[in-house]
Amino acid sequence: MAINQPTITSNGVVRPTHVEVELTRLTENYRAIERAVTPATVMPILKANAYGHGLVEVARHFASLGAPYLGVAFLEEGILLREYGVTTPILVLGGILGNQVPLFLEYDLTLTASSVEKLSQTNDAARAMGKRAKIHLKIDTGMERIGVHYYSATELLETALTCEYCQIEGIFSHFANSDAADLASARLQLERFCEVLHFYEGRGLPYPIRHIANSGGILQLPESHLDMVRAGILLYGVYPSMEVMRTISVRPALSWKSQVVYFKVVQPGHPVSYGSTWQSDHMVRVVTIPVGYGDGYFRSLSNRSEVIIRGKRYPVVGQVCMDQMMVNIEWETAYNGDEVLLIGEAGNASGDVVSITCSDLAQWAGTIPYEILTNINTRVPRLYLNDNG
Ligand SMILES: *Cc1c(COP(=O)(O)O)cnc(C)c1O
Repeated sequence: MAINQPTITSNGVVRPTHVEVELTRLTENYRAIERAVTPATVMPILKANAYGHGLVEVARHFASLGAPYLGVAFLEEGILLREYGVTTPILVLGGILGNQVPLFLEYDLTLTASSVEKLSQTNDAARAMGKRAKIHLKIDTGMERIGVHYYSATELLETALTCEYCQIEGIFSHFANSDAADLASARLQLERFCEVLHFYEGRGLPYPIRHIANSGGILQLPESHLDMVRAGILLYGVYPSMEVMRTISVRPALSWKSQVVYFKVVQPGHPVSYGSTWQSDHMVRVVTIPVGYGDGYFRSLSNRSEVIIRGKRYPVVGQVCMDQMMVNIEWETAYNGDEVLLIGEAGNASGDVVSITCSDLAQWAGTIPYEILTNINTRVPRLYLNDNG
């Protein structure tokens, strides 16, 4: 059962609208990526509530599979995992503020050092606490986000060698375009990163753990796997872009479900929902679903998206409200309590599998699947299934 979900009451009542996560799918995806990148290892990326799948449960699951490292974006995410008893090494990928360093040390979280100044601050704080900070150095090879530029990285690498209270465990960079059809920019970034790494060869030093590949790099640039890959969206069974080469086969672990809560007949010329943006020119049956943009079902999906009821796709009509939305089932049948799939797959009477993926929702909403997943908010309870049922 989910953790920390106010929408599951103490007597176990679950909201009709909920997310189901198939842990077996996560296992299969993890193993498929592992097989494809070996001898490199896999760091599951768990930021933003594990891409909407639930931070703590998913972290525990990957830890139980033997993941050598976990990645989060922020300090707070790392602390939460430690408080829930996750003992696997955790890298906080984002930038750090000087006053956060003591907390990193207290919770045994690995810092990303993205400048000489931050590295020195960390070393000072670690000395003061009598601890050794675990560090991954961040090199900017073309993202212009955080990290020292590849063309001026030597000072950071040299300083790192002198920081007695820092253990330089890893060095990494991040791709801006690894999920594109044109890989020239990603290749250039990889080349720049490898040039920076010559620093170690030149001095006869062993490499720290080298990593640069995100899902796009994992799929499209085997030479970028290096010592470790940082698997995010692919691990959840979703491809990072439409054009990316699907060299590893993964399947979605998350379904988003609700139930029909109301049924009515709508007369022609009687518009549905706020703003009266949709009406029918013939009599139709319309059902109401208790989910809306207040759960992360984007309002921009209004009059665009579809849901699955009884193995068939039907359109969402009228504006999506904060907590409810309407679906046109024409003159077909649906009853109160029928399951509604917002994301997921179902078999129908003729034996076909009908599915709606988060990539479908992303296309309808004019965004990327990452944003769909990470916006399913905490009002939606997460349930965890251990087998394929
Ligand atoms: C989010 C993130 C990843 C994972 O990206 P995906 O495209 O989801 O695989 C990897 N590395 C860093 C630094 C990230 O911020």
